[in-house]
Amino acid sequence: MPQKKILVHICCAPDALYVLSLLKEEYDAAGYFYNPNIYPEEEYRLRLAETKKVANIVKFNLIEGPYNQEEWTRFTIKYKDEPEKGRRCDICYALRLKSTAQKASELHFDCFTTVMSLSPLKKADTLNRIGKMFAERYNVPFLEANFKKKAGFHKSVLLSREYGLYRQNYCGCSYSLRDREK
Ligand code: SF4
Repeated sequence: MPQKKILVHICCAPDALYVLSLLKEEYDAAGYFYNPNIYPEEEYRLRLAETKKVANIVKFNLIEGPYNQEEWTRFTIKYKDEPEKGRRCDICYALRLKSTAQKASELHFDCFTTVMSLSPLKKADTLNRIGKMFAERYNVPFLEANFKKKAGFHKSVLLSREYGLYRQNYCGCSYSLRDREK
């Protein structure tokens, strides 16, 4: 039986290396880099370039989404002072999962998911709830996951070190950069 085609939202190279290696055991996986949250643009370009390296290592097709940062800011600015894991992050998850669901439907994938639940700072239950909502809206199933389980995050740190990948020290948006600098 042919493997199911899954479109995997990717936010950064270290997360992609671990999660895509795992999913490739079971699925015909492709990556979708859609992260209009990342600030500044040089950081966006760096994370994208590192993700391209991972696509070469793990051997998957990588699709780049638009870098529509103005739109992202319009939706999130009201919550600029929320801490990480607050309401701003829920909107940020939703914008990225919505675009992934749309792309998966447009390109006739069998299902979609995101690598984001690998991070200890990301709420897997919220990601899964939002993913299922867009699955219904765009009629393409969402693979629920919590990739940080089974020491996933620790394994991803070791793997990305082995391949010399860049690991960012803030989540991505200008607000998370501001908070880190504080
Ligand atoms: S802290 Fe991370 S998840 Fe939250 S809004 Fe910023 S980039 Fe998005």
